[in-house]
Amino acid sequence: MGGSAWVTLATNDSYSLGALVLAHSLKQTGTVHQLAVLVTPGVTSAMREKLSSVFNLVQEVNILDSRDEANLRLLKRPELGITFTKLHCWRLTQFDKCVFLDADTLVLKNSDELFEREELSAAPDVGWPDCFNSGVFVYRPSLETYDKLIQFALEKGSFDGGDQGLLNLFFSDWAHKDISKHLPFIYNLCSTACYSYLPAFKQFGANAKIIHFIGAQKPWLQYFNTETKKVQPSGESSHLQEVLQLWWNIFCSLIHPHLS
Ligand code: UDP
Ligand code: MN
Repeated sequence: MGGSAWVTLATNDSYSLGALVLAHSLKQTGTVHQLAVLVTPGVTSAMREKLSSVFNLVQEVNILDSRDEANLRLLKRPELGITFTKLHCWRLTQFDKCVFLDADTLVLKNSDELFEREELSAAPDVGWPDCFNSGVFVYRPSLETYDKLIQFALEKGSFDGGDQGLLNLFFSDWAHKDISKHLPFIYNLCSTACYSYLPAFKQFGANAKIIHFIGAQKPWLQYFNTETKKVQPSGESSHLQEVLQLWWNIFCSLIHPHLS
């Protein structure tokens, strides 16, 4: 293969729906880079077939789990231990340069320029901006780095129980060393910012290139009215109607018709 790829991860069929929408969103922006998805045994063969119709590479990997229940309870996200599985992305050495995207991201505008950045480039996390958010990052596949990451995970673990706490400890000079490794927030616009800093979202939201639906309220878990073709988000998510609708428009037009 060679070259460069967008990489995502799905450990089950619901996150695979996110991966499918993400892949279509990337194609719509006319990216020149390849698309790869890491799947674990929890993804059904029917779903893998759907994935292979849009991804250039569907790579099976085994589950890596932090099993750090105490910290995951603090995050109120017990399911995130398996995000350690993300580390497998460093093993895709058939590519020189990759951009990892969480399966709950959506690419709104061509972002191919991200491949000009170096490892490890990422955008600040809204909860603790001296940490990067690990939902979007530029990296260089390498078995050596992969081994070091696994070793590091075994010895030091992750401060939050998920991949983000681990990667921030491993790439610990990100906060202060090299500003070119700080991606603008528009490459990882965390959906919660749409209501936690509404004036900024009104001012700059139109520049967003990649949106990231962080938290437990994923797009595919929202109520969708099949008559009106409108998503009807509840509670806090109601601020996100407009961006969630973009996700659902892709799902309805390009994915749902092909789900048997
Ligand atoms: N993920 C997965 N299965 C899970 C949980 C997470 O495949 O049960 C993958 C998926 O790619 C997801 C990423 O790990 O986007 C990180 O998890 P999530 O996006 O839920 O975390 P958040 O961005 O909300 O912190
Ligand atoms: Mn995410």
